[in-house]
Amino acid sequence: MEKRILTDKYGRQLNYLRLSVTDRCNFRCYYCMPEEGMDFAARKDLLSYDELLFLSEIFCDLGVSKIRITGGEPFVRHGIMPFLGELSTLQGLEEITVTTNGTLSFEYIAPLKKAGIRKINVSIDSLDRARFFQITRRDNFDSVYSCILRLLSDGFEVKLNCVISVAKNVEDIIPFVELTRDYPLRVRFLEEMPFNGSSEFDVLNWNHRSIYNYIAGNYPEIIRLENEPHSTSENYRIPGYKGSFGIIASFSRTFCGTCNRIRLSATGELRTCLYGPPATNLRDLLRDGATRSEIEDALLLAVSGRAKDGFEAEDRNVKTLKESMSVLGG
Ligand code: SAM
Repeated sequence: MEKRILTDKYGRQLNYLRLSVTDRCNFRCYYCMPEEGMDFAARKDLLSYDELLFLSEIFCDLGVSKIRITGGEPFVRHGIMPFLGELSTLQGLEEITVTTNGTLSFEYIAPLKKAGIRKINVSIDSLDRARFFQITRRDNFDSVYSCILRLLSDGFEVKLNCVISVAKNVEDIIPFVELTRDYPLRVRFLEEMPFNGSSEFDVLNWNHRSIYNYIAGNYPEIIRLENEPHSTSENYRIPGYKGSFGIIASFSRTFCGTCNRIRLSATGELRTCLYGPPATNLRDLLRDGATRSEIEDALLLAVSGRAKDGFEAEDRNVKTLKESMSVLGG
């Protein structure tokens, strides 16, 4: 029988799964969730590790070759390391990566390596302790920064994710670019998206172009780098610097044409676009006794109905109250 592959009607193959293992987080970043009153999922509503493994196996059978572990904060879920170890044995899975806020403890580093994980994205929006606190509502700058240095010295490929808001951290942009002078890391500046768990969102006053122009105004020369396939960022380097920086038009949505991502939330919601409603809930199907082939059919059906881009997906999303990114699976 011909191998079934997750391909949408525009010919885009979805081979990159973003798998959320929890909606909980130890930070309260302003762009992601309110300071108080988050209504986190009950433990019984989360996919168990066995369910996550079973579903991941099905995704891999349907052509997924890369899984990014995200959340919420993945390292707040108890038992995450043994789970990653088991996940790494899945047939067809070529790469596991992790996105974290950098509060992972140092003792996780050796097991991460053992599970074959080499690439970690750390979210950090300011290099200034006070602004870091204002953004995350947690006083953890030192531990996050030392985690980044430790990951680098341990040979991980590190990307930093930095959400830019004109009112919060524009003054951090150049210090972040300067970090790439001495460290071989990649800093990515992201446009803020309307996923902060409230219905309030100020339409962007700084977009990917403003970020680029601001950086260009500070350096006489910027080298444009070749984009990797499916890259969401436009990437650059300052001549002579060890690292590079990228700009992600996450709100302007300029990269949907090559998007290869599919998302599974910690409670089983499947999204073929971050801006759209869930296409189905795989946890419910599984717990209602669906067979493996019924789950495959549901996945293929969901992918066949995928929107052309994030604008079309948003039009289908009737919910006015915007979800937190920690619920969607960042
Ligand atoms: N807790 C982990 C972390 O902090 O990286 C993983 C989950 S977090 C939701 C994943 C990524 O989504 C982070 O890089 C975060 O900055 C980004 N993010 C969350 N809300 C966002 C928003 N409203 N706009 C843009 N990026 C957002």
